[in-house]
Amino acid sequence: MPRIRIQGVDIEYRVLKTRRNRYVRLTVSGKNGVRISAPWGYPERELHAMVREKAPWILDRLNYYRDLEQQQPRWRYADGERLLIQGRWVPLRVTPWERNAGRLRLDGDILDISLPRQRTDDEDVIRDLFLRWLRRWAMQDLTQRVTLYAREMRLQHGRVTIRAQRSKWGSCSQNGNISLNMRLMLAPPEVADYVVIHELAHLRELNHSPRFWRIVERYCPERSEHQRWLREHGWLLEMDE
Ligand SMILES: [Zn+2]
Repeated sequence: MPRIRIQGVDIEYRVLKTRRNRYVRLTVSGKNGVRISAPWGYPERELHAMVREKAPWILDRLNYYRDLEQQQPRWRYADGERLLIQGRWVPLRVTPWERNAGRLRLDGDILDISLPRQRTDDEDVIRDLFLRWLRRWAMQDLTQRVTLYAREMRLQHGRVTIRAQRSKWGSCSQNGNISLNMRLMLAPPEVADYVVIHELAHLRELNHSPRFWRIVERYCPERSEHQRWLREHGWLLEMDE
């Protein structure tokens, strides 16, 4: 990979040239690092100059993602760790209690878990408890959002199901059934709202035409911002199961 050294830091970048590309596009993400897509035959030298010119911005983005990842290299289910809930890292507190069952409560800014003493270090037990709680919460919360927005948008929908897909945030079937990903509870609430509105809008337009996006934007003017959040941070919601 080509690299460039700026302010004592090596910036590595990957170049993808295809005949389909008409413009030069530089993106930085936590997952893929620095990527440039360019038209076929575009001179390397100019790409290099572009990276040099944009170096302060690139370094800034790389630092941002490094922080985010350092904070949470992977989901860990143990006392003192943090889990992403509604777009914020929430500390996990695990305390022993006398009962022979587990309990999880979102207590203000703390995820409070009570477990039998011999289970408090068992990550599998904590994860199961968390996932069951998340599914129940998603069922209640996301269904409520669908009802709310369906009323506002004057739409009739079918069944609402909550799934735990890895890559899909939601879908709308031809007969009006809506399915939503329970991981949306980990994203900021306004991002979850956007996905709900998106799927409901498919009841009118079963495609992604300009007409479809006009409906979405009527109820969710900042939809591009929320799409960007999902593109940039969606991978953070892929907790291990
Ligand atoms: Zn869609």
